[in-house]
Amino acid sequence: MKALTWHGTHDVRVDTVDDPEIINPRDAIIKVTSTAICGSDLHLYDGVIPAVRPGDILGHEFMGEVMETGKDSTLTKGQRVVVPFTISCGGCFHCKMQQYSCCDNSNPAEKQDMSATLYGHPMSALFGYSHLTGGYSGGQAEYVRVPFSDVGPIVVPDHLDDDRVLFLSDILPTGWMGAENADIQPDDTVAVWGCGPVGLFAIQSALVMGASKVIAIDHYPNRLALARQLGAEVIDFRGTDVREALMEMSGGIGVDAVIDAVGMEAHGFAPDNVIDIAKQKIGMGADRAAALKQAILAVRPGGRVSIPGVYGGMTDKFPLGAMMEKALQVRGGQTHVQRYTKDLLEKIEDGTLDTTFLISHRLPLEDAARGYKCFREEQDSWTKVVLKPGMELGQTK
Ligand SMILES: [Zn+2]
Ligand SMILES: [Zn+2]
Repeated sequence: MKALTWHGTHDVRVDTVDDPEIINPRDAIIKVTSTAICGSDLHLYDGVIPAVRPGDILGHEFMGEVMETGKDSTLTKGQRVVVPFTISCGGCFHCKMQQYSCCDNSNPAEKQDMSATLYGHPMSALFGYSHLTGGYSGGQAEYVRVPFSDVGPIVVPDHLDDDRVLFLSDILPTGWMGAENADIQPDDTVAVWGCGPVGLFAIQSALVMGASKVIAIDHYPNRLALARQLGAEVIDFRGTDVREALMEMSGGIGVDAVIDAVGMEAHGFAPDNVIDIAKQKIGMGADRAAALKQAILAVRPGGRVSIPGVYGGMTDKFPLGAMMEKALQVRGGQTHVQRYTKDLLEKIEDGTLDTTFLISHRLPLEDAARGYKCFREEQDSWTKVVLKPGMELGQTK
């Protein structure tokens, strides 16, 4: 089959590789019909995630048709399913508490050492996201093996086309959990850093949850326009003192909750961020946390800080004093996708949530390398790329 494989920093290729096979009784093989490139795939592309190996198949946002099932799968051939990016067993201590992204059983023992050392406990597994998270082949491919297929995949009705349900795999529940972690109350003013797909879904979710004002912060005009279209007020951080602007927009008090949907590769020209960029480039592993630091300084005393943006290592000069002295509540984490898929599918079906507005490009799988390059270099116009195995080369819609 054809699959998008990693070969080094800024080097991904569509190669011919072996078809996946059923290994465990709970596995299913899915024929991929749509698969998206995620902002967090760019961290792999930029070479800032450790333990990616040449030949690894990327992709953790995908859906398709069930082709084959192991004897303990609950799926049946021909069903259309969306697959969560988190691989979860459903039966361990954490899965039983619906903390699916903390599953104890999905990351094989021999892959657990690095994350256990880094974080104190091993990470659970994710599709297509390095050997730190299990080394599972991802879904930017014609076919993919889905472990624990009785727990993760959600069957979707035929009348909802791929564009409407694909993002249940990651960014919609991630944006939703980002807003939920901000503990939004009616009449809250909420600020969201980053108007990429997760930020935009966090904005939409915060408004659905009753926030009276959502303020979006970015510097790409098109992304800010999408945020405005959803009902947010916007700040272009270039040439604006963000904290001062937020104070003014929140009646001199500060915003009630902040959401960092940027993560470890934050842009910004503050001196400490420039040093972090240099450290990241030479492999000293510093996360660039400029957006998060700004968010912590901008939130009102007693406010909430939610971090759906991805971080992987350590960060320098973190304003821990502000967290303590302002009595902030901080929450983050990889998304417990399986906890949200059923409710969010209902909200898509009844029109509460729209997921199609951010797709800017649909490309054949064969054109995936160009998709990565443009998604990274032309972030203003390439807001979300969906790859379609089987679509003909040269045909874009
Ligand atoms: Zn993703
Ligand atoms: Zn589990």
